[in-house]
Amino acid sequence: MRSSDFCIAGGGIIGLTLALELHRRGAEVTVVERDIPLKQASQAAAGMLAVRDPDNPPELLPLSELSIDLYPAFLDRIERLSGQRVPFQTTVTYQSVGHSSLRPAINLPTGLIPGDDGLSRLEEHSLDPRQLAPALLTAVRNTSVVILDHTTIESAPPAGCLISTLGPWGAPPAAPRKGQMLAVSVPASFGLDYVVRTEHIYIVPRLQGPRAGQAVIGATVEDAGFSTHTEPASLARLRGLAAAFLPAVADETDFPIVDHWAGLRPYTPDNLPMLGEIEAADPGSTKRFVATGHYRNGILLAPATAHVMAELLTGEVPSVDLCRFAPGRFGKA
Ligand SMILES: Cc1cc2nc3c(=O)[nH]c(=O)nc-3n(C[C@H](O)[C@H](O)[C@H](O)COP(=O)(O)OP(=O)(O)OC[C@H]3O[C@@H](n4cnc5c(N)ncnc54)[C@H](O)[C@@H]3O)c2cc1C
Repeated sequence: MRSSDFCIAGGGIIGLTLALELHRRGAEVTVVERDIPLKQASQAAAGMLAVRDPDNPPELLPLSELSIDLYPAFLDRIERLSGQRVPFQTTVTYQSVGHSSLRPAINLPTGLIPGDDGLSRLEEHSLDPRQLAPALLTAVRNTSVVILDHTTIESAPPAGCLISTLGPWGAPPAAPRKGQMLAVSVPASFGLDYVVRTEHIYIVPRLQGPRAGQAVIGATVEDAGFSTHTEPASLARLRGLAAAFLPAVADETDFPIVDHWAGLRPYTPDNLPMLGEIEAADPGSTKRFVATGHYRNGILLAPATAHVMAELLTGEVPSVDLCRFAPGRFGKA
């Protein structure tokens, strides 16, 4: 493998995880980030590793399954390089069955979920992206990967091979879908140690680390350009939806808001990522690849995306068939 050949545009979770994987395979890598790495969606996420969310397109399953298999080794590698352990926060998700409407309210103050009330129990993990982000960044900084922050890709020096991981700022049809979220403090006695998810709402507790004792409630899905403002009415609506499921959450004294934010998911029209080579403008010009459009699952899909893209970039056959994710499926980018 030639050195200094890979330039990654965008320092989100997809770009940095790919940088780490290419470095592991012996490559020299530069990441170009116009702001500071991991400031965007990659810290705004809830952190569910939702392999079997019924709202995911079925075509995503092979990539999702590969990613969850790779996750323990990914977190081990981050720990070895950074000294920071990123724990799984939860191991169980209760998913509402059926998509027609919210189930009738149930009260679960002790954390006990009835088994016969329209909920399915999924063995699914979550983590805190705000723990993952600093650990991943430290891990990458402790390798020979060069991070050029406060540098736009447009002003970066040319490279032999460019991989665009610009999230919603990538070439069309990648586009932003805004998600507003709030975090509430949860009384310890409430016993919320699992994720609850319906088609409209999710509640994700943090059990370890600096945000232990909080739960995030999300999220809106809005076509609102690149705005990342939160609106009190949207946050109130999210709390209301959560309370329709866990009535105690309506109590603003017991469950005060401790934080709120919005992030931009990288959306594509078929809700599937774009992974692969982009046709070169002219023969002999820089080879260009893209890895974006992870929409609601970029935290889940980062290790598998890095794995299959590194395989593709180093001439191996990707472990997952990437035809369904071809960037050219929407026409020329
Ligand atoms: C509210 C919300 C909840 C979510 N919950 C989950 C969840 O529970 N589970 C899950 O798996 N996923 C979740 N996601 C999705 C996940 O966060 C995203 O899919 C993922 O973070 C996308 O990562 P990325 O690296 O592609 O993009 P980004 O994190 O957006 O990174 C792109 C980077 O490119 C940089 N950039 C842009 N233009 C340029 C330029 N010209 N030059 C250089 N750099 C540039 C940006 O500054 C940015 O740092 C959620 C997202 C949101 C918003």
